[in-house]
Amino acid sequence: FQSKLPHLGTSIFTEMSILAHEYKAINLSQGFPEFDTPDFLKEGIQQAISEGKNQYAPSPGIPDLLTQIGELVQRCYIRDEARRLDPMKNIAVTTGATEALWVAFQTLIRPGDEVIVFDPAYDAYEPDIQLSGGVCRHVAMTAADYAIDWQQVRAAVNDKTRAIVINSPHNPTGTLLSQEDMEALQDIVLEHGLYVISDEVYEHMTFDGRRHESVLRYPDLFERSFVISSFGKSFHCTGWKLGYCVAPEYLMTEFKKIHQYVTFSSFTPAQYAIAKMLESHPQHIDALSDFYQQKRDVLVNALKGSRFKILPSQGTYFLLLDYSAVSDLNDLEFSHWLTKEIGVATIPLSPFYQTDSLEEYHKDNKVVRLCFAKHDETLIKAAEVLSGL
Ligand code: PMP
Ligand code: GLN
Repeated sequence: FQSKLPHLGTSIFTEMSILAHEYKAINLSQGFPEFDTPDFLKEGIQQAISEGKNQYAPSPGIPDLLTQIGELVQRCYIRDEARRLDPMKNIAVTTGATEALWVAFQTLIRPGDEVIVFDPAYDAYEPDIQLSGGVCRHVAMTAADYAIDWQQVRAAVNDKTRAIVINSPHNPTGTLLSQEDMEALQDIVLEHGLYVISDEVYEHMTFDGRRHESVLRYPDLFERSFVISSFGKSFHCTGWKLGYCVAPEYLMTEFKKIHQYVTFSSFTPAQYAIAKMLESHPQHIDALSDFYQQKRDVLVNALKGSRFKILPSQGTYFLLLDYSAVSDLNDLEFSHWLTKEIGVATIPLSPFYQTDSLEEYHKDNKVVRLCFAKHDETLIKAAEVLSGL
């Protein structure tokens, strides 16, 4: 049988979580919270089930949830009252951000189209693009600080370029795009008639007073964009697989057509529970940045005496560590060793890169990712072990 994805195996997140389990290691690898979803949501989903909200939801999502998502994005990003989104025309609820990404790529990409992806990149973009018939054009973020060189982006654009994928706050580096980045992106997109897929799943986790530069803040850019987010991240319920996409009506109409034939609709009880949560507990999302900043600081402070170099995390629930002073192993070997022998599971960074020469990559890069969506005790325990190396 001829595989459609011959170069891909099991995702690194699955691989490391299985290894962590097998070796009983502290699992800071796959990104998911160790703590539970709020009680209000747990009660809400049970109530929805008891009340018989157990049949198909409308394909784009239940109206209450669409309305609440509309309120949320309006409150967070669109201050201009004259610019009002219509939740029934601009928003669709999806089975996680994963489905929203899939549908957005299917909506946009025609065979042979090129899509610009920045490396390191979340692992879903490339197979999504490939399976829609497109070709990934990888542009590396600059080595020192994972910034985007917009001159390089301009150089990568050609007459086959259809879209650019951005992800801010960024998995795995924890960097944020600035207003200048968004303006540079907007110039290129408008000049060449491109589209944007903006993965904003960590939108409510930004640190040290920094603001998230959502595409929704930029009306002209939004006119050519799919903005994607996930309730799994914002409400500590990654297993509920509920996300959404916001787009201008002409794109959303096509998005909804394809979404009908991927999942048709998403889990009904979770939609009711999250709609109520958004309405009655808006403070949960407003408090998320402080909540995760405190977690980041617990981990960073506990690692201060170690031989790891701590790279800055401005958002997400991830922190990068450079282990050059600790080991000569490459990052895959190092992550396996760290899990099996030391008892801390992390994610190596090389799987986030598309490169012809992993050897070259390994020569220059010794970096692993830690997820700090964990109890403080877990973070301190992991840091104590790592500080002994
Ligand atoms: N994009 C990024 C950058 C992510 O980290 C994740 C989380 N794994 C997703 C998309 C997928 O989100 P979901 O779990 O809602 O499908
Ligand atoms: N987004 C999660 C991470 O980056 C993983 C999700 C998954 O396992 N697909 O760790």
